[in-house]
Amino acid sequence: MTALRIFEWPSKVLEVPAQEVVLFDNALRAFVADMHDTMKETAGIGLAANQVGDLRRIVTIEIPSVRNDKSEKSATEEPKWWHNKRFTFINPVVTNSEGTDRWQEGCLSFPDIFDFVERASEVWVKAFDENGKEFEVHADGLFAVCLQHEIDHINGIVFFKRMSKLKSDRIKAKMLKRGNIHVDA
Ligand SMILES: [Zn+2]
Repeated sequence: MTALRIFEWPSKVLEVPAQEVVLFDNALRAFVADMHDTMKETAGIGLAANQVGDLRRIVTIEIPSVRNDKSEKSATEEPKWWHNKRFTFINPVVTNSEGTDRWQEGCLSFPDIFDFVERASEVWVKAFDENGKEFEVHADGLFAVCLQHEIDHINGIVFFKRMSKLKSDRIKAKMLKRGNIHVDA
């Protein structure tokens, strides 16, 4: 079990678009396993490689059916096929999206900050798993939200960029006031 260090904003790596993965080897699979371990350790439901300082297009997701977080919908959400499943999305591409929904989102790179973001309510995403096998999912609910949040990460977009200027300024000020000790040079 190897938990990786989480980079918090304003680490630069969070705002740089990541590169396509071209080599699906054992080193990649070991890194993906470490990303899943890191989510377990931090009780995160999604993680992008940028958040652990790696600029490859890799996203891991695992959403427990019972959660203890601040999302107001967590208590009411019905069991779905994607609950309690370990997903790895490499080079993910959103091929279609539908509807809009607002969820209160959190982010491991912004500890203790939660705010509403508007996103598509359903997305279709094509990606490769860690063995290089292509697959496609149709995501709804929190899975759709999480996928869009993490795909934003690998495009160098942090969640406050999806909020109003007022809200994002407030979040930035809060993070800067903390005197973040995990910022890279
Ligand atoms: Zn995040």
